[in-house]
Formats: sequence, C-alpha cells, structure tokens
Amino acid sequence: MSSSPKPVIVGGGISGLSAAYYLGKAGITPTVVEREPRLGGVITTEVVDGCVIEGGPDSFLAAKPAALELIGELGLAGEVIASNDDRRVTYILKGGRLVPLPDGLMMMVPTKVLPVAASSLLGWGTKIKMGLEYFRKPGEGSGRDRSVADFVREHYGQETVDYLAEPLLAGVYGGDPDRLSIVSTLPRFAEMEERYGSLTRGVLAARRQSANGGGGALFKTLKGGLGQLVEALRPFVPNVRQGEADALRAGGVRVDGQWVEASHIVLACPAPAAAKLVSSLDARLAELLAGIEYASSMTVAFGYRREELRHPLNGFGFLVPKRERRSLVACTWVGTKFPFRVPDTHAVLRCFAQDGAEVEALHDDLQRIMGFQARPAFTRVSRWPRSMAQYTVGHGARIQEIRERLKAHPWLHLAGNAYEGIGIPDCIRLGREAAHRIATR
Ligand SMILES: Cc1cc2nc3c(=O)[nH]c(=O)nc-3n(C[C@H](O)[C@H](O)[C@H](O)COP(=O)(O)OP(=O)(O)OC[C@H]3O[C@@H](n4cnc5c(N)ncnc54)[C@H](O)[C@@H]3O)c2cc1C
Repeated sequence: MSSSPKPVIVGGGISGLSAAYYLGKAGITPTVVEREPRLGGVITTEVVDGCVIEGGPDSFLAAKPAALELIGELGLAGEVIASNDDRRVTYILKGGRLVPLPDGLMMMVPTKVLPVAASSLLGWGTKIKMGLEYFRKPGEGSGRDRSVADFVREHYGQETVDYLAEPLLAGVYGGDPDRLSIVSTLPRFAEMEERYGSLTRGVLAARRQSANGGGGALFKTLKGGLGQLVEALRPFVPNVRQGEADALRAGGVRVDGQWVEASHIVLACPAPAAAKLVSSLDARLAELLAGIEYASSMTVAFGYRREELRHPLNGFGFLVPKRERRSLVACTWVGTKFPFRVPDTHAVLRCFAQDGAEVEALHDDLQRIMGFQARPAFTRVSRWPRSMAQYTVGHGARIQEIRERLKAHPWLHLAGNAYEGIGIPDCIRLGREAAHRIATR
C-alpha cells in the first residue's frame, strides 16, 4: 500500500501556487518553499491614494485559457475586467514625437492598407515592402528558427524591426529582437510563415477563422489587480515554508540547511535557481538550465493629481524604440487602459525600464516626451533582477533536451516562465501540468 505523496514545490510565484492549487484539488497537500516573506513572486499589487498599482504584470492574454479557468475556479470570474479596447491607441516615439500605431496592425503585421499608407511612422520603402509581403509564398526559410529581427526584416524590412518589433518586444519581454527566437517567442507567426508564406495573409486567415468564436479584449485582468489572484490562492496553500531551497536529492529538498522529505519536487523557481539545485544530481541538466538567459527590468509608477497633469492621456500609452531611447522603454497610461484602476482625481503613468535606470531620469524622459511639467504626488518603484526569461535562438532544442533528461528523474518537475511561455497563462498551465503528472503517477 502506498502512502499519500508529499510533494515539495520550490517557489511561491504564480507557477508554484498553481501547482499547489491543482495538487490540492487532487487531494494532495504539498509544501511550498518560498524564499521571500510574501507569496506571488513578481505579481504584486498595492493601492495608493485609491489607485491600483501593479509592480509586476498588469494583465494577461485572454486567448490562452489557463488563467481565466483558474480565476473561474477560484470564484473570481465576476472580478475579471478587460482593457478599454475602444480607447486603444498606442504611440511610438519617432523623431521626438509620439506617433500613433496605425489601425489594423497585429504586432508588426499590417492588415489594413489605408491606415498604414497614411501613417508617418514608416517610410514609403517600408510601406511598399509591406504591400508586397502579401504575395509571399511558403518556401525557403519557412519553419527555420532565427532571430525575431531576421524574421521581421525578411518580411517587412529594417524600419519595421526598429519602429515596431523592437519596441514591442522590449516593452513586453524586456527582450532584444536580435537575440530572441521567432519559433519560441512568437510561435504563431512562425507557423503562419510556414503555412502561408505571408504573415499578412496568415493573420487575415486567422481572423476569419476566429470571426465566430473570437473577439473580445486581447488582455484581461482583475478589478483589484493581479494580487487578487494570489490572495484567492492563499487559502488553498496551507503549507508554506519560508526559506531558501539550497540542495535536492531523490526524496528530499534541503531548506536553509534542513532536509525536508519530498516524494516529488516541482522546481517553480527561475531557471538559474533550478540549475543550482540540480547541479549535484545531473550536471548536463544544470548546464542546460543555466544557459537560459534572463533580462532584468523595473517598473516605476508615477501618480499625479489629475488637474495638475496637463495631458489628454488619449490612449494606452507609448513605446520608445531603442534608437530613440534614453532610459524609458515604455509607459502605460493606466487609467485609460483599464477601468477601476485610477479614480478621476488622479492619473497614473506606469513606466517600464531597464534595471538600473534612475527614477529622476525616467521622470525627465516622461516630461520631455509627453510635454508636461507636473511633479508626481507619489512614486512606486519595483525592481525585477533577472526575472524575465529570454527565449533566444535555439531555445526549442534546449527545452527538448531538458525534457529528455527529466525522464531519468520521474520525481522531478519544472514549472515557470523559462520554458514554454513567459506570460501568466502559460505559467499557470505548466504548474497545473506538473500537478497532474504527480497526481496521476
Ligand atoms: C515587470 C514584469 C511585467 C510583466 N508583465 C506581464 C504581463 O503583463 N502579463 C503576463 O502574462 N506576464 C507578465 N510578466 C511575466 C509574468 O509575470 C511572469 O513570467 C510570471 O509571473 C512568473 O511566475 P513564476 O511563478 O514562474 O516566477 P516568479 O514570479 O519569479 O516566482 C518565483 C519564486 O521563486 C522564489 N525562489 C527562487 N529561488 C528560490 C529558492 N532557491 N528557494 C525558495 N524560493 C525561491 C522567488 O522568491 C519567487 O517568489 C511580467 C513580468 C515582469 C517581471
């Protein structure tokens, strides 16, 4: 007769908490080991002067179902809100001016002729290349992994890399398109290239297919911020042990020097921490995990009295391409992007920057770019050193080898943003899959 399994989960971010929740649902109570005194990892929400301030992620892709499924199970479906897509305008800084992204762009893929033709964001050479891309046939290069920059350049030219792909990727992944893999970072575009040759035709075909089932906002979140999700998970995770996991072996994890019994171990910590833990177990696995790159970033939320900030805030915010960048990478006009986040009395500008940026320099950038003089009533800074995994060229092959090696250690599981998707829904999905494997073994 086998006794009840005692899994240990290392890391109390959304990946580890999801694994713990789904294990609990299967009647298994794991121990979650978390180094920090709080749970949630990079998810942190604070309310300041009635404004909901997200220190890390602020929303998730609605098209990937795992987040909405978990939220539904936790009884939070009524708290879900969508971005205000009727007010969606994103600006790009070009030549010191904020130029709106033309209507009909799906990331860097144009789907409408007139708005792109009329836009001052791109020159005529790029516009003509974009038009001709429609006639591209599947062929050489299709399906081949290469950098996002090479991929976009082949389809739409260098200016599209500089003024669309680079700022979009820097704003979402803190990533560099010359290093990121197209197949692992934007797999849908790689699939479209393989099938249609042209990305424009691929996106139009995908839209037609989802015309009935699709629609709705691209991004969703919770009224009170994503911290609500962490709070709702908390009662389902009764065994939390604060401490740092510093070694492991079959049957146990060492936490601050003390061995804790473990029938299964889920490493839901960032890959460099996972690499250290498995180094004495499997040197090649450790090497593969340590090879996954991470970017550091920071967010700074500046809050103002609304009457002092003289700006219409007529959009979701703006992105700063590398060619125009000092310290600021992107800025979200929070109250326009989401309902319930900012009362009418205030305005919140949330900046995304490379780690190490000076807060005062960021504010100077904001004033210069947006053309205002106001000083913030409050400022909140969150630093995220080495928190965003970067799927560089060859990531797919690396993950395949990691999966192969894990077969030799059936009690060891990986979850987190380093493997199959950086966003919250993929982290939840990997946590749930690890739980499922443990519960059914
Ligand atoms: C600034 C920022 C903005 C983002 N925006 C979005 C967004 O809008 N939408 C979206 O979908 N995604 C976004 N992401 C990505 C997404 O938030 C993360 O990928 C996801 O939350 C990571 O969750 P995780 O549990 O895998 O890792 P983490 O949240 O990093 O949690 C890992 C946990 O492991 C703990 N830990 C590490 N080592 C040990 C150890 N040895 N022992 C014990 N504990 C340990 C850490 O303390 C931490 O709590 C953003 C990320 C950042 C940083």
